[in-house]
Amino acid sequence: MRLSRLPLNTFKEIPAEAEVVSHQLMLRAGLLRRLASGLFTWMPLGLRVLRKVEQVVREEMDRAGAFELLMPAVQPAELWQESGRWEIYGDLLLRMQDRHQRDFCFGPTHEEVITDIARRELKSYKQLPVNYYQIQTKFRDEIRPRFGVMRAREFVMKDAYSFHLDQASLEDTYAAMADAYARIFTRLGLRFRAVDADSGEIGGARSQEFHVLAESGEDAIAYCDADHFAANVELAPAMPPTEPRPDASAPLKAVDTPGVHSIEDVARFLKVKAQQCLKTLVVLGRDDQLLALVLRGDHELNTLKAEQLPEVQKPLTLASPEQVMAAVGCAPGSIGPKDLAIAVIVDHSAAAAADMVCGANTADQHFTGFNWGRDAAEPRVADLRDIVAGDPSPAGGGPVNIARGIEVGHIFQLGDKYSRSLQAAVLDQNGKEVAMTMGCYGIGVSRIVAAAIEQNNDDDGIIWPEPMCPFHVIIVSLNPKKSESVTEATDRLYEDLQAVGLEVLVDDRDARPGVKFADADLLGIPHRVTIGERGLKSDQVEYRERRSGKETTLALDAVTAFFRDRQG
Ligand code: ATP
Ligand code: MG
Repeated sequence: MRLSRLPLNTFKEIPAEAEVVSHQLMLRAGLLRRLASGLFTWMPLGLRVLRKVEQVVREEMDRAGAFELLMPAVQPAELWQESGRWEIYGDLLLRMQDRHQRDFCFGPTHEEVITDIARRELKSYKQLPVNYYQIQTKFRDEIRPRFGVMRAREFVMKDAYSFHLDQASLEDTYAAMADAYARIFTRLGLRFRAVDADSGEIGGARSQEFHVLAESGEDAIAYCDADHFAANVELAPAMPPTEPRPDASAPLKAVDTPGVHSIEDVARFLKVKAQQCLKTLVVLGRDDQLLALVLRGDHELNTLKAEQLPEVQKPLTLASPEQVMAAVGCAPGSIGPKDLAIAVIVDHSAAAAADMVCGANTADQHFTGFNWGRDAAEPRVADLRDIVAGDPSPAGGGPVNIARGIEVGHIFQLGDKYSRSLQAAVLDQNGKEVAMTMGCYGIGVSRIVAAAIEQNNDDDGIIWPEPMCPFHVIIVSLNPKKSESVTEATDRLYEDLQAVGLEVLVDDRDARPGVKFADADLLGIPHRVTIGERGLKSDQVEYRERRSGKETTLALDAVTAFFRDRQG
């Protein structure tokens, strides 16, 4: 491809609308253009990267024995009504009507459609297992589309769905998919981690996520290298402290804390650490009574864990200040577990602490020296909080670390949720009808492109991992308009490098060398060959590797062999 022919608009300024570096660089390098919130055009150079990712995904899915098909993006409401998700999927689902006022949606996922295919095509256990996949555009009406293609509304997903006679067969395919995913992310040159995950909306048993590790990731992952524990913080159990609770040593004392409500303010005002404070959150209970959840001040409530408690209303809802006032007679910022008029559930760590600071259930007062068992009854305890760095690994190997990650893949054991509701059954060995057991496996193909940039960039721009670069080599031709020898050498090298299988971008624009070098860096092409008249006088060109920045001089005649050997 010749840059003299491609209208490429790059720019230096960081676009105001882009919060993360991948989004900034994709806009600056002209890979992506925004149409509307969460909707993007993949420009020619960006599309080449997307296609490469798709191709690696396709090859590994094929290698793992899955069959590619392509389902419609638009889906009839009837199927979603059959599965029950038309009502419950919520605002993520983009609904529409055709000219006959029939309801449709733009598919955010394809369990319904594939299960409909399966119930029509699969009749006997002899046809199982089978794994179908597609690479296709999805639409989810995300509340906060952001980070460019990382959380878009329209995006490209690889989704696969497998059908089985029994759980054992599902587990085989699930393991094969986990292997395929590891191969895909390894081949793409990404640093990633597989973690145990909550199965969220889709429901079902086992589920793992694959995360590309990056500071900007929206997810937190707890892991322990010593025992291979890795789980999304949403799901990772926080182990109860093994040390017994220290004895009470301070007397209970009420202190005035005028206008002091948040844990940070209380800690600062009383000159104690947040971990010496109790945080009391009032939420709605299942029976519409209010309920207090108590945590250590330095810990965060984990919504999913709280929602699993039978007493807690789902979705977790904080009580309004009015509700709190009506039930316990003071505002939320002054609540504590002593003589509280509502039921209390306490996190393990908060229950194992002594001599704590907590709200006194009176406006502008706190207690110091609060102790369980002495100042309040021994509480009902539960795991209510997010795991934090330094907590013991649930697998026993030592303390956990926390890393941030970008979810690029997700595999689920679905079970028979969809095959039951949509009645997708086969005849088993005994001629009996059984609902098929299902798995589903997603990869955020377009998100991968952004995630790769999050991991691979510097001040000058993108540094593509070679397996997903838009071009392998950029030939920067210096002043081609003025020099016939430069043009000639460029054209010849362009031909020769393509002949040995390299994808080559030629910067033959009529632009200053500095502009060309800056664009080559911004675009992140792994290898740059610069051809200028001065070098050509001694038949030499400059070679520069993008990642290391190393430069060497090569004989013009040796360039093709240099790359061929590298590839070898
Ligand atoms: P998230 O938790 O990030 O919202 P999800 O768990 O809802 O994602 P899945 O239903 O598991 O997503 O979809 C499979 C994959 O599709 C995800 O692992 C992710 O890589 C990708 N994906 C999901 N939502 C988006 C989006 N809005 N933009 C880009 N990629 C997405
Ligand atoms: Mg997911």
